[in-house]
Amino acid sequence: MYQFSRAIYRELAGEILEEPVLSGTEAALGNHERVLRACEAAIYRLATDRHYFARPTKTLFNDIRIFFPMASQRRVYCVVDRYVTFAREFLASQPLNGYDLEGNRLECRATTRRGTACQRVPLPHNGYCPSHQHLAETEEMVLAA
Ligand SMILES: [Zn+2]
Repeated sequence: MYQFSRAIYRELAGEILEEPVLSGTEAALGNHERVLRACEAAIYRLATDRHYFARPTKTLFNDIRIFFPMASQRRVYCVVDRYVTFAREFLASQPLNGYDLEGNRLECRATTRRGTACQRVPLPHNGYCPSHQHLAETEEMVLAA
């Protein structure tokens, strides 16, 4: 999974500002390290919690944009968006084995009529089990509205 965060970092490393952007203890890590860690955190979240990670491209871009000059902003956004899209396609294509890439058990996102969490194995593209697919459709209509 970290192939994606490393790829983002590699493509953008040459454009990272050399002067410290942050001050005090926040500057201790250095700009390069901060960018790499932000990329890894975003990809980790995509791998483990992607159905609740609403705008991964925007989130990661906002986290790292201050480490790049004005002239690079557009390119940074495009690179982030490209690899976030790759990562999402990769995750959506993973076989249904009931576990995420970190080995955590996956469970359907729905709540049953008794108010407990549905524990069936979800489908990879939307996180709901086969009997709760109608909830994914409702969600899409809400998002499209
Ligand atoms: Zn379910």
